[in-house]
Amino acid sequence: MQRKYLVVTGGVLSGLGKGIAMASIGNLLSSQYKVVPIKCDGYLNVDPGTMNPIEHGEVFVLDDGAEVDMDFGHYERFLGITCKYDWNLTMGKVFSEIREKERRGDYLGKTVQMVPHVSNFIRNHFLKVGEESDAEIVLIEIGGTVGDMENDLYVDAVRSLMQTVGKENILFVHLTYVPIPSGVDEQKSKPTQQSVGFLRQKGIEPDIIIARCSEMLTENVKQKISAFCNLSVEEIFTAIDVDDVYKIPLVFEKQGLSQLLARKLNFSILPDLGRWEELIKKRENYEKEITIAIAGKYTSLEDSYASIIEALNHCSSNFSTKINVRWIDTENKDFDLSGIDGVIVPGGFGSRGIEGKIDVIKYCRENNLPFLGICYGLQMAVIEFARNVCGLSSTNTTEVDENCANPVVNILDEQKGISNLGGTMRLGAYPAIIREGTKVEKLYDSQEVSERHRHRYEVNPQYHNILQDSGLILSGVSPNGKLVEFIELPNHNYFVATQGHPELKSTLLKPAPLFLGLVESAIRKKFE
Ligand code: GLN
Repeated sequence: MQRKYLVVTGGVLSGLGKGIAMASIGNLLSSQYKVVPIKCDGYLNVDPGTMNPIEHGEVFVLDDGAEVDMDFGHYERFLGITCKYDWNLTMGKVFSEIREKERRGDYLGKTVQMVPHVSNFIRNHFLKVGEESDAEIVLIEIGGTVGDMENDLYVDAVRSLMQTVGKENILFVHLTYVPIPSGVDEQKSKPTQQSVGFLRQKGIEPDIIIARCSEMLTENVKQKISAFCNLSVEEIFTAIDVDDVYKIPLVFEKQGLSQLLARKLNFSILPDLGRWEELIKKRENYEKEITIAIAGKYTSLEDSYASIIEALNHCSSNFSTKINVRWIDTENKDFDLSGIDGVIVPGGFGSRGIEGKIDVIKYCRENNLPFLGICYGLQMAVIEFARNVCGLSSTNTTEVDENCANPVVNILDEQKGISNLGGTMRLGAYPAIIREGTKVEKLYDSQEVSERHRHRYEVNPQYHNILQDSGLILSGVSPNGKLVEFIELPNHNYFVATQGHPELKSTLLKPAPLFLGLVESAIRKKFE
């Protein structure tokens, strides 16, 4: 099939769920085609790796080590694919490449301009990703709202992409908002009309409008949008508010979206949403209910731990169990774990709240409360064990205390030389060799596993023996045996931690094994 492009832009306001809308379209199409998503961010950071998760949400990490926008989490989970560094553009990345080209003399003395040079560079990037990934369908999400200065160049790039690939091979989907103001109690189409006006000024006519609304759009409002935007009523869809974003592919499909896309772009498709729907129903009609605590420092913003929540959602379907999340702010030492069936200590950086995390872990270890430590959570579990079981004094990670007597977590010599921010971390997928007979082996059902990483510090190899002698099982290590990837405690309901981030690869159809283990033992503890 001739490669097709589908561009998703947003209007009216941000936060309408463009990422979910595009991931849902991808979900419908990826059942039969190789679909590759591209996300364009307007900010000048080269990648979100150095951005505060409170401001930006979780930093998503890919197998290839790229630190990307959290929308890639939606793409991977909804499309069941492994994304790549090149599939995320930021203006920071674009400008740094343009500058390099200019310094190298690639422009042969020409004046380098926003249009056409920068916008052509972006367009060529879209074409390159399509070719290199051998995609049948390329989805392009333009971040922000049309009319924002910072995404103008992306909008111009997709306009020029249309000229390059031909109108018959590209579709423009515009996501807007239809409010129902209180007191007026009527669906209003004006914001949609205005944002389509913006798009037209940039030379783009939308082919499909998806309107976010708290109700299904009425015929009347569809007629209005249709008349103003030169679309037929069938080309206008509702992205109705849902309690579970995994329902959006079903919502779109019910309105005939995949057939319309296929007709317009001249291919055929018959998505099969059977299993997807069944799994959503399993968590909706739950049989049991448990509460899992997440003990961390960014608990004020759930988006910082988006993938952890997702992984729990996947387990919720798997066990047909409602999982309530209780946030525990570990800066507050008086934490309350009553009514908690399992605890997650997630990743983190810096000293804030770490003694609280260590106290929470100690409580889990001593009270047989199911515990899963992720990244910093593993490091804290090792510190807790070294202090309270091995009896080592002045024990810490050198991230918090450079001069402690027993640095059980530190930076390995080979990592010390790297100084460029964003370049200092162990990033991306790394393999681990799993020890036979461990819980981790049983959960993964494999002796070699790969998970994604994002950290600087490691369990100090000088302490491996001391920890093991006191009963800590190093259930998975790097192939050279130097790096600790998984730990667990025997004779405990569930006390497992990993240096990786298994939540990043969890999907509805295939939940992350260590999360399944935590939830399963939390259920067992509560109901048996
Ligand atoms: N701060 C720790 C490190 O850099 C853990 C990082 C994380 O939890 N992602 O090693």
